[in-house]
Amino acid sequence: MKYFEDTPLEALPGRYLKADALFRFRCHPGIGCFNRCCRNLNLFLHPYDVLRLRKALNIPSDAFLERYVDVVLREGEYFPDVLLKMAEDREKSCVFLSSSGCSVYAHRPHTCRLYPLEQGVSFDGAAPKGRLVHFFRPFDFCQGPSEGTSWTPESWFEDQGALPYNAVTLPWSELRRLFRRNPWGTSGLSGPKGKMAFMATYNLDRFRDFVFNSSFLKRYFIEPALGDQIRNEDTPLLKFGFEWVKFIVWQIPSPLFRQVSG
Ligand code: SF4
Ligand code: SF4
Repeated sequence: MKYFEDTPLEALPGRYLKADALFRFRCHPGIGCFNRCCRNLNLFLHPYDVLRLRKALNIPSDAFLERYVDVVLREGEYFPDVLLKMAEDREKSCVFLSSSGCSVYAHRPHTCRLYPLEQGVSFDGAAPKGRLVHFFRPFDFCQGPSEGTSWTPESWFEDQGALPYNAVTLPWSELRRLFRRNPWGTSGLSGPKGKMAFMATYNLDRFRDFVFNSSFLKRYFIEPALGDQIRNEDTPLLKFGFEWVKFIVWQIPSPLFRQVSG
């Protein structure tokens, strides 16, 4: 995810798209470059991508993380990135690429949905709330921009089913931004808080197990309606996880839970 702070967006690579800007794009199986964009790429997965992909594959989140991703800590960062492992073939193809296209299409990652747009988050100064910004930035070999249909960013998101992803990307990026400074002290990322933060964001099935099958509910009060929701639905649980991370790492209180006194 790219963060821009007080950055002139027009000066960045690609064409910065305001809300009403138009771009042309169409992709279809008959196009000459079909599937070329699913090879030789670094595909970063956000927590919501993991949540959806593990649903597509019908496996728990820890099995998905074990089998399908590399967890990497980039220099100067304090929270890891999660990258989809590519196949061992010559072209480093996406593991979900089949001869007929994407085998997880209904649950494909956010980056794949947004393409040919790139998404970033722009922050004004030190304000904690950001806004999503978009750039038209197709690959050189991509023939989609020569094909007929015109879109605004919003109509593209709707068409591609990207709106639920956008809705989680914003709170996720605001949380990730807090990790620009080392919050771990001497314990490092592999300490208990670091492990908890990773679980609450990327390993959602384990996190649900933690909330409902540990002493958590004896120590923290959650409104019953919210409790039902996060027991049964993934997206509210993920947003709850973001709030929990802010609380355990920086002691930022959340309206979603409160410590039981005594
Ligand atoms: S390179 Fe562009 S047009 Fe070709 S398959 Fe990928 S997205 Fe579609
Ligand atoms: S997840 Fe699907 S759309 Fe995305 S790179 Fe892999 S095969 Fe292509």
